[in-house]
Amino acid sequence: MDGREIIGMTAMIPVEAVLAAGCSPMDLNNTFISSSDPDALVEQAELDGLPRNLCSWVKGIYSVVKNRHIRRLVVPFPGDCSNCHTLGELLADQGFEVFEFRYPALNRVAGLKKEISRLECWLGGSGTGAGTIFEQLAGLRLELKKLDRLAWKTRSVHSRDYFAFMIGASDFNSDPAAYELSLKNYLASAPTAPSQSTVLPIALTGVPPVITDLPETLEKIGARIVFSEVPRQFTLPRGKSLASAYSLYTYPYDIASRIKDIRSETKQRGIAGIIHYVQSFCHRQMESLLLKPALDIPVLILEGDRPGKINSQQLMRLESFVTLLLEKKQRENH
Ligand code: SF4
Repeated sequence: MDGREIIGMTAMIPVEAVLAAGCSPMDLNNTFISSSDPDALVEQAELDGLPRNLCSWVKGIYSVVKNRHIRRLVVPFPGDCSNCHTLGELLADQGFEVFEFRYPALNRVAGLKKEISRLECWLGGSGTGAGTIFEQLAGLRLELKKLDRLAWKTRSVHSRDYFAFMIGASDFNSDPAAYELSLKNYLASAPTAPSQSTVLPIALTGVPPVITDLPETLEKIGARIVFSEVPRQFTLPRGKSLASAYSLYTYPYDIASRIKDIRSETKQRGIAGIIHYVQSFCHRQMESLLLKPALDIPVLILEGDRPGKINSQQLMRLESFVTLLLEKKQRENH
């Protein structure tokens, strides 16, 4: 890090405000899952008293905040997670400064404008406003759009690379300039012609998985992620101004807008099947009851609990699902 204060975030918030204040945003989820031993971070939180039957993401975030000596963090609520809200209360009680960013349920654009100013006041700092930073990041977001399009148009982008860039868009890995450079370099050498391989185009929906090798595993069994719902939302695919882009970011709002997005994107991208990831002990598991019947392509609900590599039961379920989809495709081609 370059000496800037790190502002932790338990889920995506308008990072433009953090950057405008001269601070570095840190998506605590990404820091947790990309650490050398994420399961040790979960254990550390449990030793501090966090319940075993609590989502691993929350426990991982807790340990990252403690280990990285993060003084201030932003917790979106409502709009993300009731468990993280309580985590914020716990950390505030322990002396951390916690800001609740409220994604508005109604009058989204007007509500977001107010919330972003409130966040800017809390962050302090002066100079460039969040709106100006949004404009400065337009080129970077355009590059992300190019990668997303390349992934589904050519099916030649490896699932791991696609997923890593998309998920990193929540905080630009804390360094937008370095992130943009690495994305541009990647795009410069990426194949632009359609892949000749017969990989099965798959969508990954739901909360980001704690299964650390899911993209590679899918590749090994003949499937490729060409639509990654929530990480793609981190790229802010729609909206021309700061407030409108965050008003169209589907994840913090109702499930209906997420279903609409998934339906249209899976149709356009010719997706063969959806892997809907759910996290053990997560309230969002109930969303699959609404999502599955609303989609007209096969959906596999895949659950994960502790962070780490895929286990044999999860692998078996994925293999059966991909085999079924390949057989279906063969039947349709005859
Ligand atoms: S997986 Fe669910 S419970 Fe866990 S942090 Fe995400 S929204 Fe919250």
